[in-house]
Amino acid sequence: DNPLLTPQRVAEDADAALRPKTLAEFVGQAAAKDNLSVFIESAKSRRDVMDHVLFYGPPGLGKTTLAQIVARELGVGFRATSGPIIAKSGDLAAILTNLEHGDVLFIDEIHRLNPQVEEVLYPAMEDRALDLIIGEGPSARSVRIDLPPFTLIGATTRQGLLTTPLRDRFGIPVRLQFYTVPELERVVTRGAGLLGIGIEPEGAREIARRARGTPRVAGRLLRRVRDFAHVGGSEVITRAIADNSLTRLEVDSLGLDAQDRRYLHMIADIYKGGPVGVETLAAGLSEPRDTIEDVIEPYLIQLGLVARTARGRCLNDRAWQHLGIAPPIAPLA
Ligand code: ADP
Repeated sequence: DNPLLTPQRVAEDADAALRPKTLAEFVGQAAAKDNLSVFIESAKSRRDVMDHVLFYGPPGLGKTTLAQIVARELGVGFRATSGPIIAKSGDLAAILTNLEHGDVLFIDEIHRLNPQVEEVLYPAMEDRALDLIIGEGPSARSVRIDLPPFTLIGATTRQGLLTTPLRDRFGIPVRLQFYTVPELERVVTRGAGLLGIGIEPEGAREIARRARGTPRVAGRLLRRVRDFAHVGGSEVITRAIADNSLTRLEVDSLGLDAQDRRYLHMIADIYKGGPVGVETLAAGLSEPRDTIEDVIEPYLIQLGLVARTARGRCLNDRAWQHLGIAPPIAPLA
């Protein structure tokens, strides 16, 4: 098998057990699901391949899961790879020429493809063809190879990370949103069933409230709370067990973790609430800028704790309240 396909990622293994298999089982994202089911039905009834899809949104919201579900509902094969592991254009050419008619090819972190590899993707997406250069120097010539029809599903954290030519080649862009607490309650309750542990509705609600709007986080917290319940000799997760366990895991009442609080404290303590530029924050926190913009900030912005302004990041009142610090008093002009 091609080593560039379906890389084994440890985190994904734990996720796999909780992965819904059908669109009906997939909780939330109503708008995305409604649209996808129309495109899936249409492709099936036309006996045609579905147009290329781009899923974008913060990590852990279900992009990989939805891609697998789309393939399953279309009744086609699923092949997965990711942007950073396709080093050379030849690697992508090998993957493309090995596709079977109608396959879904999933490329995670598609914004991290290198530019030469991306060039190979354009004719593949548009004309289902591969332009290969054979030979070198003056005798080099280009040959065009036809590819089987396929659906590319790309995943990225932000649509804006893609180059315009790549973005324009996706017929179906789908933005994934953070989940509501009731939606995450369903994810947690379903997960508990799959893990074979009892959970009271208030226990599920507590985990859901503190899961950062993200099913992957909900699954991870559920497994840890299960461990605490298990070691404590309880077969049922109650609200008290969930609350105690999450507090021990340093997940606070809003669901923020240590990294989130470090970010907020940096702006509060060092920059008096901002504005402060993202590069400065990245340097201060020793985190890559992408992590700040794609992982940490979206949820803090969604909660209304932080604002992105033209001059930089600023804390809102709610952030000061949450940190329990009085905001600095503005100097009189
Ligand atoms: P992404 O590709 O966006 O990073 P994944 O598709 O890998 O996210 O999902 C992460 C985890 O969350 C998986 O374990 C998956 O089962 C779970 N998950 C994601 N979306 C849902 C959902 N809508 N309902 C239930 N579980 C979900």
